[in-house]
Amino acid sequence: MSEKFKFLEIVIILTRSCNKKECSYCQVKKDYKVNKLENNLYQLIEFLKNSPVKSVRFLGGEPLLKYKKIKQIIKNLPDKNFIINTNGLLLTKAKSDFFKKYNIKIILSHDGQEPDLKINRYYTDKQIAVINENLINLENYQKQTQINLTVSPQTIDNLYNNLAYIYKLGFKKINILPVFYQNWPQSQLRLLKLELSKILVNLNKFKQLELINLKSFSYLPLFKNSLLIDCDGNIFFSTAVIEKFFHQYRKEFIKANMMILSEKKKNYSELNFKEIEDYNKKIDKLIINEFSHTVITSTEKVNRIFENFINKYLKINKANL
Ligand code: SF4
Repeated sequence: MSEKFKFLEIVIILTRSCNKKECSYCQVKKDYKVNKLENNLYQLIEFLKNSPVKSVRFLGGEPLLKYKKIKQIIKNLPDKNFIINTNGLLLTKAKSDFFKKYNIKIILSHDGQEPDLKINRYYTDKQIAVINENLINLENYQKQTQINLTVSPQTIDNLYNNLAYIYKLGFKKINILPVFYQNWPQSQLRLLKLELSKILVNLNKFKQLELINLKSFSYLPLFKNSLLIDCDGNIFFSTAVIEKFFHQYRKEFIKANMMILSEKKKNYSELNFKEIEDYNKKIDKLIINEFSHTVITSTEKVNRIFENFINKYLKINKANL
C-alpha cells in the first residue's frame, strides 16, 4: 500500500475579525463574517476528539476575540497541543494565567520598539501601553511564548535593535518574519543583509536565542501541511484560503464540511500524496498569477538572503559548541 500524507496540524478560524486598525501588510479577508463554526462548537470538539492530529492552532483575524470559545475547546481536549497566534492586545493577565495552566503555546506578532509599532501596525500610544503591560503578564511564561518579529521594507533598518529589544524583554524564541506579498527594493534588501550580518557579528549577545523555523520564509502559503477549518465550517488544505485575493476562488478549494463530517464521526487526517500535491500546486499557481513579477522575485531574494543568514548562523553556532 502506498504511503499516505498526514496532516501535522489543524488550524481553526473562529473569526476573521481583528480588534485593531488593519495592519498595512495584513492579507486576511476580514469582512467574511460568518460564525457557523463557533455556533457548532460541540461538533467541532467532537471532530477534534476523533482526529489523530495532535496540534491545533487558533488563527485569525484575532482569535482572542473568541476567548470564551477557545477556553471551552481547550478544557474539553486535554490530549491536544494548542497554539494561539495573537497580536497580544487582548492577552490580559487572566488569559495568560489560563494559558499557563493549560500549557498553551502563544505566538505573538510584534514589530519591535515603539516607533516601529506605529509604522505598519498603526498602534496608538494607548495600545502600545496595553501591549507592554501584556508582555509583562507573560513574565515567567516566555519559554512557551514565541515572538514573530515582523520586518518590512519600512522597518528593516531597525531589525537588529528590535531583536535586541525583544530579547532583553526576556523572550528567547524569536521568529524573524519578513512580510510577504510586498516589493522589497534593492536598497532595503541591502539593509536586510546589513542588519542580519550585524546579528551574526553580535551573536555572543544573544546566547539563549532560539531562532524559529527560519527556513520557512516563502511567498507561498504558510502552514501548507495543515488542515484548515474556516469560520463557516468548511475544510481546506491551506491557510492561503483566508487571504483577500483568494476569496473569489474559495469554492473550488473546499474539501469537506466539518459539521457534516463530525455528525458522521469521520475525520480527515490522511490523504494520498498526489491529492495534497495537486492542491498545493493549484494554490501556488494562483499566487504566482496574482502578484506581480517584481513582488515575487523580490520576495525570492529575501528568501535567499535569509537562507544565507541561517547557514552562517548554524556554522557559527556549531563552531561555538
Ligand atoms: S493584527 Fe494580525 S489580523 Fe489584525 S490586522 Fe494586523 S496582521 Fe491582520
